[in-house]
Amino acid sequence: MQLSKNFTLPEFTKSMTAVRMGIDNSIPYNLIENIKFLCETILQPLRDLRGLPIIVKSGYRCKILNSYIGGQEHSQHIKGEAADIDDLENNKILFGMIIHNKLPFDQLIWEFGDKDPEWIHVSAKREGNRGQVLKAYKDDYGIHYAPFIYE
Ligand SMILES: [Zn+2]
Repeated sequence: MQLSKNFTLPEFTKSMTAVRMGIDNSIPYNLIENIKFLCETILQPLRDLRGLPIIVKSGYRCKILNSYIGGQEHSQHIKGEAADIDDLENNKILFGMIIHNKLPFDQLIWEFGDKDPEWIHVSAKREGNRGQVLKAYKDDYGIHYAPFIYE
């Protein structure tokens, strides 16, 4: 199923972990609209601006898969509102494009990495997008999310 010009539904439901663990990660029909909304408002405009493929590392996650991989309990991945994306060349450029072009995100997270994020988490909601920008980092106590001002 095509969600937008360059994105298809299987890109958002595929998971090597799910396959390995025998978890059925197919998406409930009523959540497909949320993924489509994320594609239409953020991912496809970003793909068009960048002019290069964007890899979806993780899109929809059923609750079992999400808890298995250690995702947050109320992760937007469970609702089909979030995707972890990877540019393959330079995630920092992608991150900057989302901000500078004012794409209407709910939450944008620079996932680890100092000069270049290892990947980018981005989410969108139909209403009440917070425009929240965070940076994830690890230390001896675990994973933390700090407010992040990107210039
Ligand atoms: Zn994520």
